[in-house]
Amino acid sequence: MPDIINLLPDAIANQIAAGEVVQRPASVVKELLENSVDAGSASIQLNISDAGKVLIQVIDNGLGMSETDARMCFERHATSKIASSEDLFKIKTMGFRGEALASIAAVARVELKSKTAESELGTFIHIEASEIKKQEPVSISQGTSISVKNLFYNVPARRNFLKSNPVEMRHILDEFHRVALSNPTISFTLTQNDKEIYQLQAGKLSQRIVTLFGKNYQKQLITCEEETHWLKVQGYIGIPELCKKTRGEQFFFINNRFIKSSYLNHAVQGAYEGMIQEGQFPFYALFIEMDPIHIDINVHPTKTEVKFDDERSVYGIVKAAVKQALGTHNVTPSLDFGSDVNFKNLAIDNSHFNAPTRSEGNYGSFKSLDKQGKSTRWDEMYEQAIDESKPSPAEIRREELAGLSSQMIFQSEVNAQQSADLNLEETNIKPVLMHEKYVLKQVKTGVMVVDVILAHERILYEKYLETLHKKSGASQRSLFPVTFEMSATDFILVMELKEEIGAIGFEFEEFGKNAVAINGIPADIKNINEKELFEGLLEQFKYNKSELSLSTQENMARSIAKRSASKTKISNDSIELRTLIDRLFACQQPNYTPNGTPTFIILGLEKIAEFFNQ
Ligand code: ADP
Ligand code: MG
Repeated sequence: MPDIINLLPDAIANQIAAGEVVQRPASVVKELLENSVDAGSASIQLNISDAGKVLIQVIDNGLGMSETDARMCFERHATSKIASSEDLFKIKTMGFRGEALASIAAVARVELKSKTAESELGTFIHIEASEIKKQEPVSISQGTSISVKNLFYNVPARRNFLKSNPVEMRHILDEFHRVALSNPTISFTLTQNDKEIYQLQAGKLSQRIVTLFGKNYQKQLITCEEETHWLKVQGYIGIPELCKKTRGEQFFFINNRFIKSSYLNHAVQGAYEGMIQEGQFPFYALFIEMDPIHIDINVHPTKTEVKFDDERSVYGIVKAAVKQALGTHNVTPSLDFGSDVNFKNLAIDNSHFNAPTRSEGNYGSFKSLDKQGKSTRWDEMYEQAIDESKPSPAEIRREELAGLSSQMIFQSEVNAQQSADLNLEETNIKPVLMHEKYVLKQVKTGVMVVDVILAHERILYEKYLETLHKKSGASQRSLFPVTFEMSATDFILVMELKEEIGAIGFEFEEFGKNAVAINGIPADIKNINEKELFEGLLEQFKYNKSELSLSTQENMARSIAKRSASKTKISNDSIELRTLIDRLFACQQPNYTPNGTPTFIILGLEKIAEFFNQ
């Protein structure tokens, strides 16, 4: 038999490697932005067309590349960032595998322009499917500009696999947020289809958070800072009131590299225990700085996972640091984040970490606690955190799984009981309202206790579902339009849901960058202002979307019902109470809210008697 094994040509090998590195436009964005950061740029511009399917362009003013390097950078395993295997254990840059540009150039049309400080002219290279089409000198200023056009043009299967523009754009924004947050001293611009979405000035981390996520964050952040001999945690957490129903705004960075860690997330969530409700997620942007020798980031090519050699201790320190920050906040909830005094200490840039100098400016009570002997206090906190039995990552995964299955069991019980027959009896005894929350009504077998808010949620849900089907939502017009500014991600979602939001009765229009003007809200909604309702609807929608798989209409009906029902106020007027009960029982499924919480219970006479016969 003849020999049959061939070495694959580079272009094919690169294309295979690209499968791991480049999954979607957002992966290209991540790699290009990180390269620009690694190149020491002071300002980075990202231009996107058609959610990155047509163009992803990154322009920086970093070190640039020589003519030879500009060619070399497209070779596989070509990197300036490590030279030996020892270097792998002290990585300070974002990249190190030398795979990204080779992979990207294998599956797109790429144009690169780059110039170093020393050379007079820059280099232009046009490469398609790993093949250099053109190279010539070009006159540009120092830095690098890379345009990636028609991603996956030569891999139709991949291209067809891409999601809708809003979905791909959301992934891009996620990557952009991560890089922008971890590099507040670099200025960033983002444009989408020539429209500017972000213009971020170089500054402090706190300012970056506020420009990325909204002005309301300004007064709702708490500084979090702790240091042991081998690890430093620094950053911001949100006050408990800033909690969201979606996980979106939670960021961990290890040595400035964004990572996902359900283990460390559990530590933060644990520190908030008792302060937030279940199913709420606090904001955090926490930077952990430690000797790279204790970390292995070489776990996955996309590099969002890391391994620590002592993860239980990292868990303990993070939890204690967040607890301490929350404690400090409770002592002085009036820390003024608007003033520069607080911003001053909080720039997270690398130089800050390398030479930890703490300015002696007024730092609120955080600082004074510091002066009262932080180390003893810290030791206490740390000991305490270590004592609390910390779950292993496997235990956490088990916990999460257990949570899921109990939810599923609950759902099936709901279905089994859906047909539960109710023996409502018309009596002359009037229903009564208790604690402004529950309506009590005598029924044949005992006493029915209706939860006003949950009952209202069911009623509104069925009403809005019908409205959505018929697209018949009535609107009550506001006296004045109310403008509402939101994050770019939320704005994209709103545009995506324009039709449904309109169908339930909102009247709104685009109003400048990432903002809408609300002219009317669904009729019959009371006790809630336009902005609160709109914002709540979005939050709830995102939460449902991340936790449940629902159709857009179903999700919309559930979200608006939940949010508007939560503000229900009812008086102890028997006609009003009776109407509520009648409307509830006119529903197709009165027994439960759309997500399965009972809307009422029956306290049976036998059960009541049992209480007295023990
Ligand atoms: P890695 O980042 O892992 O080294 P890449 O394929 O992303 O691998 O990049 C290869 C090399 O190209 C880098 O090591 C760097 O020397 C050079 N390079 C890439 N992008 C830039 C840039 N924006 N500015 C300067 N040099 C760059
Ligand atoms: Mg790279």
